[in-house]
Amino acid sequence: MVERKNIITIDGPSGAGKSTISKLLAAKLHYTYLDTGAMYRAVGLQVERSGLDLEAENGREKLVKLLDILDMTLAPGEEGRETRVFLHGEDVSDAIRTPEMAMVASRVSAEPEVRKKLTEMQRALGNKGAIVAEGRDMGTIVFPDAKYKFFLDATPPERAQRRQKQLLEQGQRLEYEELLAQIRKRDRDDSSRSLAPLKPAPDAVVIDSSQMSIDEVVSFLLKAVHEKQK
Ligand code: C5P
Repeated sequence: MVERKNIITIDGPSGAGKSTISKLLAAKLHYTYLDTGAMYRAVGLQVERSGLDLEAENGREKLVKLLDILDMTLAPGEEGRETRVFLHGEDVSDAIRTPEMAMVASRVSAEPEVRKKLTEMQRALGNKGAIVAEGRDMGTIVFPDAKYKFFLDATPPERAQRRQKQLLEQGQRLEYEELLAQIRKRDRDDSSRSLAPLKPAPDAVVIDSSQMSIDEVVSFLLKAVHEKQK
């Protein structure tokens, strides 16, 4: 039998609670937390800052050049801390975590060159194991041989509400209806793209967290991990 890697993957749509849950789970297990959405957001920020128009005739060419010289470094969160992202030495961890950057990230994440580059980086960071990797394609594409795979879901209205609360805590106020529309659009775009679409891996445990508290989800995941470790 193939030895499976000591990696926990948590995939799912935006606002399902992946970040909160992944951080807590990583802390409980003394694992490193890797937020791969932050990497797509950082590429999005760099694309924005350089004024690159992906729809322009030479947009792709310019994107390849941008990725070639992209200096992105990561400090994965030890024991459940936030993943910090640096672009050319600048800490952009806060700048990337806005609703606008989420939409830009979703757009650039459909580009094959971007996915190839970030998949390689993620594997280099995660292959040592003892990691909780959170994203959209962790269990399907990046770490198909992970030992523990989960897909965390919740209804769109529930996710919009959670996102609104989370943003308020960061001092950003957004209308519920606008957030709901953004969530629905990202769901559509992330699930329908041809490359690494958002979907559960065949061997992932799917959890609908709509009616569950954070603690309940973390306990459920811990139990599932411990049971498999036995
Ligand atoms: O998880 P987060 O909301 O930070 O992700 C931002 C966007 O990055 C997602 O909407 C998705 O389009 C993209 N993404 C991805 N693959 C990942 C993580 C994020 O395509 N593994």
